[in-house]
Amino acid sequence: MSGLSVDFRLPVACPNCGNHRMRVSQVKNPDDKVFCASCTRYICLYHEAATILQKGPGSESEALIEKAANRPSD
Ligand SMILES: [Zn+2]
Repeated sequence: MSGLSVDFRLPVACPNCGNHRMRVSQVKNPDDKVFCASCTRYICLYHEAATILQKGPGSESEALIEKAANRPSD
């Protein structure tokens, strides 16, 4: 991992460890990957995290995380 990263709180917990603290690059490009700050599991892309932050906690936000987590990684 290169460059500076910042932590932020996501309303939806990490599916792996249940942590709410996430990490993303400081520039926060929409396509930047968001990782769990605790277990470093890939969570979603930053634009998806931004959508979740706008929507707040709920089934819609959880569905977004689930969809992102199940997407094949390249
Ligand atoms: Zn985690």
